[in-house]
Amino acid sequence: MFQRTRIKLTAWYLLIIMTVCLFFTVIIYSLVNQEFVRFERMQIKAAHEMSIGINPPPGSRYPEENLSAIKEARGNLITRLFIINLGILVFSGVSGYFLAGRTLNPIKKSMDEQKRFISDSSHELRTPLASLRTEIEVGLLDKNLNLEKSKKILKSNLEEVIELQTLSDRLLELAQNGNAINKNSFEKVSVKEIIDSAVKKTEKMADAKKIKLTKKSSDVYAFGIPDRLTETVTILIDNAIKYSPRESKIEVLGSQKNDQIKISVIDHGQGISEEDIELIFDRFYRAEKSRSEEGFGLGLSIAKKIAHSHNGHINVDSTLNKGSTFTLVLPKA
Ligand code: ADP
Repeated sequence: MFQRTRIKLTAWYLLIIMTVCLFFTVIIYSLVNQEFVRFERMQIKAAHEMSIGINPPPGSRYPEENLSAIKEARGNLITRLFIINLGILVFSGVSGYFLAGRTLNPIKKSMDEQKRFISDSSHELRTPLASLRTEIEVGLLDKNLNLEKSKKILKSNLEEVIELQTLSDRLLELAQNGNAINKNSFEKVSVKEIIDSAVKKTEKMADAKKIKLTKKSSDVYAFGIPDRLTETVTILIDNAIKYSPRESKIEVLGSQKNDQIKISVIDHGQGISEEDIELIFDRFYRAEKSRSEEGFGLGLSIAKKIAHSHNGHINVDSTLNKGSTFTLVLPKA
């Protein structure tokens, strides 16, 4: 499909270029030919004058030779114009094909990405849907289904539905954050406020694991969409809590160094192996060690997309079994 479109686009480029070339070729030929015709007429007139004994001007002394020279020159002109057009056709064909490839490449990449997104998502949706279906089918086939058993099935169904809902919300977020963010809606955002609201959102989760969540920030400002930036920091704190042991400590620090704003989330949890660090920002990737915790492997890919759309990035520094530091780096306001 990509190849066919590339050839079609090349054909369109060629059509436009060759139409322009042929137009100019016709103009050049008719202008030069006008001169040839004028010269031919002069030679015919000179031949006639010579036949009746009048002496022609010096340039027309040999009309026969001159006429054949004009004929030859006309032939040469046609051959050269033909060769030039052929050269342009070949050159524009090759460069058009190359340019068409370059033009279509970003579209191809985005289409491939979309296809992968759809296939990854359907794959993830299939597992909870299959287990939901099996539970319902088994329940319906059970001849001794009583109220207690029904309630148990419904409870398990509800858990699956909640999981599906969370997954679809996350997928929607991912799709929306993949769209280009309108930079006109960027504003000056207090880093302190971002940290405060992200910590507020995750406090209950930290309390449930008796984790001490502390925050500290200098009075610095980033530039962006407050909700999106809060969401990113929330994802980082959420992970820090998930992958830290009970009664451990997590710090959230906001600072500025030169032209960069840094928001770091430091935990003393399970850490990430070197091989996994390369992959954790990929959609649906979850390190083997973390599979016991709830999650879909989408949080960091969402966080990364938001950081990129704010001209920033996320740094990871982690040691297995010691802890991790995730730092959101943004340009200062
Ligand atoms: P999720 O947490 O839902 O699995 P994420 O995309 O947020 O998805 O994270 C991807 C993976 O990165 C996690 O499954 C986990 O293996 C690893 N990870 C992320 N944050 C941490 C952390 N603070 N400590 C240890 N591992 C982490």
